Amino acid sequence: MVRPPAMFIADSLGLDFLNSVATPVDTPVDWIDDGDGLIDWLAQAKLVPAEELNALKARARPGELDKVADQARDLREWFRGFVLEHAGRPLTAKALHELGPLNGLLERDEAFSRIEPRQDEGGVFALRRKRRWRSPEALLLPVGEAMAKFVCEEDFSDVKACEGHNCTMLFADHTRRRARRWCTMAICGNRAKQAAHRSRLKSRQ
Ligand SMILES: [Zn+2]
Repeated sequence: MVRPPAMFIADSLGLDFLNSVATPVDTPVDWIDDGDGLIDWLAQAKLVPAEELNALKARARPGELDKVADQARDLREWFRGFVLEHAGRPLTAKALHELGPLNGLLERDEAFSRIEPRQDEGGVFALRRKRRWRSPEALLLPVGEAMAKFVCEEDFSDVKACEGHNCTMLFADHTRRRARRWCTMAICGNRAKQAAHRSRLKSRQ
């Protein structure tokens, strides 16, 4: 199956993950509906280094990555429920008890730090965060981390759903006046403009 390029319009990777199923034109697209899709999406999201993705793909048993994609979709839809429940106002400490599944995922992480040579002028070495990619399920860990960052750093007052008809995309509105209404101008913004134009023409008749 050929998928269009994934969309990263949310201004927050945690929300972009929720937008990995969307209807950009007329047909719904699920970018992570199987293992290959998940690998492609993670590569486009730059959440996993390409060489690790290739190595995991080469090592995976048949169907193994598809199973991880199933888990990723379950995680995504659980997180969508949480985000939609809390969008539009600041999170309160009470929400913590709902985040058990996410904390459970984060606990499985095998991240570590390592001193590596620096490429730029800032000095000889840099301390870099790394992760062991022992099993395909490790692919869920950077996704969990992106979701957790979103929960901890984003003001949920700014989390909005696109106003486009039938559009399911979510985004964090970081515009100065908090006036963002659309996933993208190219998709829903223009459609709404055209609809407004048509109704103006009609009312003139
Ligand atoms: Zn939209």
